[in-house]
Amino acid sequence: MAYERSVEHLTKPSPEVALNHKPLQIVRLQRMENEEISLSASDLENLSVKVTEIESRLARLQTIVRKIDSDAYGKCEACQAEIDLEVLSSNPEASLCAAHAPEPGEIV
Ligand SMILES: [Zn+2]
Repeated sequence: MAYERSVEHLTKPSPEVALNHKPLQIVRLQRMENEEISLSASDLENLSVKVTEIESRLARLQTIVRKIDSDAYGKCEACQAEIDLEVLSSNPEASLCAAHAPEPGEIV
């Protein structure tokens, strides 16, 4: 029957799907999970600090990407003026123009 054949087609994975179902990288990761790893308390502490640093860096990069996507990157958050390229190249996260940026040493 045509209906049964179409259902069978939908439930039976195509060869490509079967091949992509478990990529080699995933198998490798699973193998690593199964290995016994012993870490000292200071190793764990160092890893935890690194993870925190990486998460903070990722969040800052995501902010930059969001600004680029919304065409807000390089514009002062206070007055929308273009931020000097010199400022952006030394600090890609700069969000204020020279007029609105705090002086070095000034407490914000
Ligand atoms: Zn400004």
